[in-house]
Amino acid sequence: MLASYAVRVESSLGRRYPEPPHPYRDDFQRDRDRIIHARAFRRLENKTQVFTQRLSDHFRTRLTHTIEVAQISRTIAAALHLNESLVETLALVHDIGHPPFGHSGEQALHVAMQAHGESFDHNLHALRIVEYFEQRYASHPGLNLTFEVREGIIKHSHDYAPADYPELSEYLLDQRPPLEAQLIDHTDEIAYNTADLDDGYEARLIKLDDIRREVPIFDRYFREAEREFPGVRDKLKFNEALKRMLNHLVTDLIDHTALRILNSGVQSVEEIRHYPERLAAFSPATDQARAEAKQFLNSNLYHSESLRPQKADGEKIVHDLFGYWIEHPSGLPASYQRQMEKETPARVICDYIAGMTDNYILDLHKKLIEKGATK
Ligand code: MG
Repeated sequence: MLASYAVRVESSLGRRYPEPPHPYRDDFQRDRDRIIHARAFRRLENKTQVFTQRLSDHFRTRLTHTIEVAQISRTIAAALHLNESLVETLALVHDIGHPPFGHSGEQALHVAMQAHGESFDHNLHALRIVEYFEQRYASHPGLNLTFEVREGIIKHSHDYAPADYPELSEYLLDQRPPLEAQLIDHTDEIAYNTADLDDGYEARLIKLDDIRREVPIFDRYFREAEREFPGVRDKLKFNEALKRMLNHLVTDLIDHTALRILNSGVQSVEEIRHYPERLAAFSPATDQARAEAKQFLNSNLYHSESLRPQKADGEKIVHDLFGYWIEHPSGLPASYQRQMEKETPARVICDYIAGMTDNYILDLHKKLIEKGATK
């Protein structure tokens, strides 16, 4: 039972290369399965979310974060009667363009590209992966995903000004994306705000008292857990509070988005696209609670003293290897050398590095930079 404003697979703008229909999977289900079977998806297992795996196997990786975003997104899509298969596909693909070493890897690549008058953007890189780099079919390059999935990859987290990105004009940059894509930015944040509190506490990098003092929504549910389970150890009350906080965020996003849809009067995907603002949103009170949690994680975890060496390492490794291949382009794999006939060396090197897992880039750094330095 889809809402009138849900994306219908029968109305999809389709694939670049037409394909016959599948007997028992619709086009969005097939796109979801293409993502799951993609090489870039498997590599998420070995890409940093916040903590490098060197610290502990218990912490989220890009892959387990992605699975959590998909779980949360499906729940919300079902409650709002949106297209669950499209939402799930967009959730599974949302981080596929991330380089190794999480945010620091992304930052280092962007800085390296800026020195060559270019830039790195993980959403644009994700589109390059699914359009060109995944090679699974003899008949065409890329995964040949439907328009709605490619559009969602570009537009789920923010708007790109049409004047700055003429090459993306087919993605209707002057319009809002459908609700299925709008949701992903919020479910991504629900997933990482709660998971990073969890992993940060488990890693003993953030303290219970500090979370309770600076994240009021967490404290409220921690008090509730203390009243209901007075004798249990802190970790179990922590888990209980975090679970209730996650549930609060999800429920609020469902309820407030439903309210905004109702108040806006939109009835169709076309009207969602032409509505002056995005309709998927938290209520003002919950949005403040969300922002407080994010702010706490920013100052106490992401930019903490304890994570600084790990981040500096990641940035240095990306910086060193980028510089190395600018000097020695003939050291790149053959397929990347061929790509240089059409694109700048900086872009090709950026693509190569962005695709790497944490382990792979660490090995290459040892082989090409550290060994060279000790000779
Ligand atoms: Mg994410």
